[in-house]
Amino acid sequence: MIEILTPAELPRARAAGALVATILQTLQGRTAVGTNLLEIDRWASEMIAEAGGVSCYVDYAPSFGRGPFGHYICTAVNDAVLHGMPHDYALRDGDLLTLDLAVSLDGLAADSAISFLVGASRPAESVALIAATERALAAGIAAAGPGARIGDLSYAIGTVLSEAGYPINLEFGGHGIGSTMHQDPHVSNDGRPGRGYRLRPGLLLALEPWVMIGTDRLVTDADGWTLRSATGSRTAHSEHTIAITEDGAEILTLAPGASA
Ligand code: MG
Ligand code: MG
Repeated sequence: MIEILTPAELPRARAAGALVATILQTLQGRTAVGTNLLEIDRWASEMIAEAGGVSCYVDYAPSFGRGPFGHYICTAVNDAVLHGMPHDYALRDGDLLTLDLAVSLDGLAADSAISFLVGASRPAESVALIAATERALAAGIAAAGPGARIGDLSYAIGTVLSEAGYPINLEFGGHGIGSTMHQDPHVSNDGRPGRGYRLRPGLLLALEPWVMIGTDRLVTDADGWTLRSATGSRTAHSEHTIAITEDGAEILTLAPGASA
């Protein structure tokens, strides 16, 4: 089912997006060398509760996972890229951390992910990797608007990733979002322009390009959730929730003070 919000519902979606963005920005600011992934999970849990939100992850139990996720945020380090389960690990200088968070507030969900380097080290390969997913996300958003098709967004995202030299895995991608976290339509991270569902005002989408250096193959950790690069190479992931409006697309999960 594809859910279309009424104009009266949009402010609630904005509030959910602002909450997710604020929590991610706060967590990034608090994260330093030595921060434990379990602390980040606890901080996320506290901020969600304080805001009156509901975690979309704690009870999430899709067919590809092993039972309910049981945590409030995904924390993926270095070669881990998707569904990173928080565990007892203290971050080191130069680690590439991805935080992925989805929260429901007043009945509407927002979903966003950021990748960043911990500490002072700035390994060039990792900087380029993160920048490519951010550019791909921006290109996908730029292609979105009323009348555009899902394939236009997929093509825009995939073109940036391919031109940056990264293989693209199509097993996991973006999605519709609204009263639940994952809905139709699926938004592949590569595709053909002019194909697929035609976007309408009131549609919410989570766009989420992610890549792994030199491979498109994933392996699953023993925890049954965390997905890693099969070769151990570094990975990055950028995600925003957007609303299709009458004249374009509005980013709902933009961090306070950030520009699109
Ligand atoms: Mg997400
Ligand atoms: Mg998502």
